[in-house]
Amino acid sequence: ADDKGIKWGKAPCRYCGVGCCVLVGVKDGKIVATKGDPAGPVNKGLNCIKGYFLSKALYGKDRLTHPLIRKGNKMVKASWDEALNLIASKYKEAIAKTGPDSVAIYGSGQWTVFEGYTASKLFKGGIGTNNIEPNARLCMASAVAGFMSTFNSDEPMGCYDDLDLGDTYILWGANMAEAHPVLFSRLIDNKLKNKKVKIIDIATRKTRTTQMADEYIPMYPQGDLAAVNAIIHVILRDKLYDEAFVKQHVNFKRGTENQPYGLKDKENAKEEPKPLTFDEYKTLMKPMTPEWAEKLSGIPAKKIEQLAHIYGDKSRKVNSLWTMGVNQHVRGTWVNNLIYNIHLLTGKICKPGENPLSLTGQPSACGTAREVGTFSHRLPADMVVMNEAHRKKTAEIWGIDPKKISPKPGLHTVEMFRAIDRGELKCIWIQCTNPFQSMPNLSRYRKAAQARKAFIVVSDIYPTKSTEVADVILPSASWVEKEGVFGNTERRTQQWFKMVEPPGEAKEDTWQLIEFAKRIGHGGLFPYSQKNFYKEMWEEYRKFTVGTGKDLAPYETYFKVRGLRWPVKSNGQETRWRYTEVDDRYVKKGEGVKFYKGVGGKANVWFRPYEPPAESPDKEYPFWYCTGRLLEHWHTATMTGRVPELRRAMPGATLEIHPEDAARLGIKNRDKVKVSSRRGSLVLTAEINGRGKPEKGNVFTTFFDETKLINDLCIDAFDPISKEPDFKKCAVKIEKA
Ligand code: SF4
Repeated sequence: ADDKGIKWGKAPCRYCGVGCCVLVGVKDGKIVATKGDPAGPVNKGLNCIKGYFLSKALYGKDRLTHPLIRKGNKMVKASWDEALNLIASKYKEAIAKTGPDSVAIYGSGQWTVFEGYTASKLFKGGIGTNNIEPNARLCMASAVAGFMSTFNSDEPMGCYDDLDLGDTYILWGANMAEAHPVLFSRLIDNKLKNKKVKIIDIATRKTRTTQMADEYIPMYPQGDLAAVNAIIHVILRDKLYDEAFVKQHVNFKRGTENQPYGLKDKENAKEEPKPLTFDEYKTLMKPMTPEWAEKLSGIPAKKIEQLAHIYGDKSRKVNSLWTMGVNQHVRGTWVNNLIYNIHLLTGKICKPGENPLSLTGQPSACGTAREVGTFSHRLPADMVVMNEAHRKKTAEIWGIDPKKISPKPGLHTVEMFRAIDRGELKCIWIQCTNPFQSMPNLSRYRKAAQARKAFIVVSDIYPTKSTEVADVILPSASWVEKEGVFGNTERRTQQWFKMVEPPGEAKEDTWQLIEFAKRIGHGGLFPYSQKNFYKEMWEEYRKFTVGTGKDLAPYETYFKVRGLRWPVKSNGQETRWRYTEVDDRYVKKGEGVKFYKGVGGKANVWFRPYEPPAESPDKEYPFWYCTGRLLEHWHTATMTGRVPELRRAMPGATLEIHPEDAARLGIKNRDKVKVSSRRGSLVLTAEINGRGKPEKGNVFTTFFDETKLINDLCIDAFDPISKEPDFKKCAVKIEKA
């Protein structure tokens, strides 16, 4: 303890995918302070405003402290036994009557590795259904599909060091200053030290990121799909590519175009790749000229030419950065592929200071949702349920019959909630997330839940829009009220210990799941001892990773360090850059770069054409509607909303409108405006010339405010490959309320 009697422990921040290292101060059994960890390599002692107020996020007056069970319209206090027995009986009844695929669990990129692993093992290896999804389907699924289709291995080759070492940063629809603030400060630090550093912000809206950028390039929604293709066209036309790199490291492929966008229930699509030669690829790319892209993206042809020449400039270390602007897109996978294409063609990849970097949103979207494999088609360490050898390996480690794991992918998120509406899904358990505020086309799913079409269990720390529709509410332990591991954007695995007791009868989600497992006959899946529970579970999970290029270290290794980036080498050293002899032990000296997970040690350059959005503005609904985040609140604000300072700083959602659009409609700043789409409408306060400034014809709002269910308006069309819905664009009209 320090001289004030405060004991400090290390942990990753509870909120975003940056994964800042924090120090947590505990006194008298309570968190009294947090601070940026000066020993933390991610953030070098800094936090953003959310991080600085972390200590208050767990102490809202309305913490859930005991289980609640629905009796008619009331939620009444129950014991853990009553609640868990009820859940077990409902799940058993549904499984007996309609089979294991009539039940599900919906988790989170905020699940710790232990929580995600327990849920996955129970549902996939015990109950025998792949109906398990993380909310990461709503944010990172297109990034996963992009990595897997291009490199046959998930997660980036680069890391945060690239923010310090590069000199050119091209941001594709990413407001880093608000969504990844500490990383943005690292970028600005580089800019202050190095005059050559250039930041180019390509977006549909001016933001705080724009204020610090060297250049802002406005773009139409879906314009990235055309613009990136045209950049590639110029790179090919002007021979800006690295011929030797391409020859050695790249396969060319085309996919199946014209797949549906998932607008109807149960629409699905298969990716059937066809090989191409480099010449065939060049021919396919010929029509995608800058002039063609100008019409579709709004980016002047000349600017596209300039961007191509920046990417192709051998004297520049060019990095691309993106997040939800690219991923939450009916062609999110394609845009991920296309950005990789640029870097693969120019050879600006797997080099210190020169990489594409897909930024994540949640603290363990990588560590849990992706690495543990809590998606409905995935198993740990990039394996999938459709592959017999992968099921066999998983069953061996789990000590079960391989036949127990179904080869059929489960319902992905949108289909999971549609299945509730269709009456096909009888039971769903939601942990650590708030889908009845965050789903697109929200009112369809809220109505289905309110009609009690499924038995709904919600584990959380506070009442939310999801607990409102639950049949059972379970109080959860949060963050440092339990031991855990998170994995961040740059493959960094961070461990922390329990530091304080959860309030009342609140319990960890892992405990909840295992107690439930015991009641439905699957308790044997979790044979870990009380004393070494986490270590034993970790060592079992780690077996999936060793020797695969995703190697995790023994559990104790993480106790003292501020995380390690995998693959961790046998000497305990982390890997900063993958696929390169510079740092990756899977690449031999003399091999240079090797995409060792890909066919023939190569990565794929995909032909990905342009397609129009699922819905575009028209006479009736003439505006684009875009949704996103802001600095003060995180996701649906279930935690940040309880921090008085953050609440005061940003009390509610507004609708950002371009001044000329507002003037034309007679709307003044702070006027109430009604915004409507084909799916719903709501009233918001107009914000003109505020923090964010959308381009003409666009409006923007944020999804944190539970009094304004802005996702009612969003379309639930999804990327046919990644199944990620498009939160970034649909058509709306606005009128003075
Ligand atoms: Fe860092 Fe993100 Fe936490 Fe802010 S919210 S302190 S950027 S991890």
